[in-house]
Amino acid sequence: MTELLLGIDVGGTKVLGVAIDPAFPDQPVALRRAATPGDVETLVDVLASTIDQLRAEVSATGHQSGPIGLGLPGVVDRSGVLRGAPNLLCAIDQPVRSRLEEHVGSTVMIENDANCALWAESRVGSGVGASDAVFVALGTGIGGAVMVGGELRVGANGFAGEPGHMVVAADGVQCPCGRSGCWERYASGAGLAWLAREAALQGQAGLILELAGGDADAIVGAHVTAAADAGDAEALEIFDRFAGWVAVGIGNLMNILDPDVVIVGGGLTAHARHYFDRVRQLLPAEVLGAGSHRSTPVMLAQLGPDAGAIGAALLAIEPLRRE
Ligand SMILES: [Zn+2]
Repeated sequence: MTELLLGIDVGGTKVLGVAIDPAFPDQPVALRRAATPGDVETLVDVLASTIDQLRAEVSATGHQSGPIGLGLPGVVDRSGVLRGAPNLLCAIDQPVRSRLEEHVGSTVMIENDANCALWAESRVGSGVGASDAVFVALGTGIGGAVMVGGELRVGANGFAGEPGHMVVAADGVQCPCGRSGCWERYASGAGLAWLAREAALQGQAGLILELAGGDADAIVGAHVTAAADAGDAEALEIFDRFAGWVAVGIGNLMNILDPDVVIVGGGLTAHARHYFDRVRQLLPAEVLGAGSHRSTPVMLAQLGPDAGAIGAALLAIEPLRRE
């Protein structure tokens, strides 16, 4: 009888739970999805029932359920409490872990979702064999994680690996975090929408503006991807600019960390055909001494939307040092 690990990835809109055999982590034995609720009481209930359902499914397959890991979309402090999360405000400073542990009757490991995703990618995805790796998740914002010498870096407070709030344009666009010109204002889904709104104001986003009902303020990332999918030249031009911003940030990370590999994940990788080759083309100009050493591979994440949940399960048996 194999002991299966349970992992849950809590996103801003979705909760994904998996049960995995540690020998084959990329092939979940059971999978559960739910919507992310807006209040912490319901959130704990949803997580508890996801675990209950996974446990029932695991036992129906004749296996045993083991340790549980939980990935959260924000900065998790060393004691496992979420301290900042623009997409999960209801859980900030809340004792989610202890409430959940009470319900399920066992310990629950809590980790930042991007750390979970990088861990999974380093075990069974694009980062296999890498000792130093950088993960960036291009979604609504930008998440990130850093592995050095085979270990994920959590930092002095547990807050390491938030490249989305690295400033790439001093006096640039105001960020909800309080700084101006953060990377995620330009190189995320929100950034893509901003680039398109700017283009619309210059009269250079005809189809996108039409898709947004003629209101530049109503433009979102999905309008840009839809126009690009239709082959619209103005949308593809916006994606080129977007690629430039992605390259600036990845170049910064490479200059600081000189990793074996950079792995790019997140929802925007579904549209990688519109910008990823361009990012790779632009990167050498962003990296110091790029011509004098082997070029660092920049790869798309392999595990897709399951990476966070798989990594949370794997980290449940070898949690990062927190206390
Ligand atoms: Zn910021």
